Amino acid sequence: MWENVKELMLGACDLHIHSGPDAAPRQQSIIEVARDAAEAGMRALCIKDHNTATADRAALVREVLGDNVLVIGSIVLNYALGGWNVEAVEKALNMGARIVFMPSVDACLTIERVHVTGSTPWLLPFVKLQEPRKGLTVLNRWPDGDRIIPDVEEILRLIAEKDAILDTCHLGALECHHLIRAAHQAKVERIIVTHPNCSVNPMTIEEQQAFAKGGAYLSYAFLPCMPLFDRQHPAEIVGMMQAVGPERCLLFSDFGQVFNPPPVEGYKMFLANLLGAGMNPKDLKMAASENPGRLLGLN
Ligand SMILES: [Zn+2]
Repeated sequence: MWENVKELMLGACDLHIHSGPDAAPRQQSIIEVARDAAEAGMRALCIKDHNTATADRAALVREVLGDNVLVIGSIVLNYALGGWNVEAVEKALNMGARIVFMPSVDACLTIERVHVTGSTPWLLPFVKLQEPRKGLTVLNRWPDGDRIIPDVEEILRLIAEKDAILDTCHLGALECHHLIRAAHQAKVERIIVTHPNCSVNPMTIEEQQAFAKGGAYLSYAFLPCMPLFDRQHPAEIVGMMQAVGPERCLLFSDFGQVFNPPPVEGYKMFLANLLGAGMNPKDLKMAASENPGRLLGLN
């Protein structure tokens, strides 16, 4: 089993990790994560920070560590960066950010699930706002809007212009439905729907299949399986991946929290758990390496 994992790590990409420096305590600095990733033979990492854009530190890490592993930057559109801040997106992309994440801790849905329904208690320390309507949504109305707001359309246009990646982050299925339709109209080619397996924004198999059919990649996180998080059984993720089809799947650890293993160790555990829960190595290779490589334009 472990030999399989080592082999699967070669060329693997983790497009969503948390690392220091960060406003919250993190397990490792980005330099330490990148060193571990290079040692394991990984191909790419993307630094996600809920509060700051990360293309600057990604460039510095590349300068220090060379191109053993490609470290890429991103931007997450929470209030710390001004919410729907078109200007911030433009500058982040100009600085080399490759992924534009929709809101996370300030998303209306996250506020609702943390403070109203209590479905995701582990995010409580990170979600300051308590009233869902004060949060961020791509829709003209929360929770039942029927179109995308103009600032988001402008952001999609910028993503398309740079051929960058749109990541739906903490948005729910209805928001993703409208956002992806608008993204296609704006000619955005690279789309990730993030952790439909997580209590933050759970999606049905049918919703996941519809997004995959629409050309998006479904990206599954290991974090929800952890004891202090959703305690999800990895077999549930295997079921989702098989229903969606491995050719539309990605994997990411979402690690970096101080009480979880370091991100690269976590990614190995994720692969081992998926193998143990019945996923075949060929399909895992596709989700861990081939699909993200294509998404990043590396294949
Ligand atoms: Zn995360």
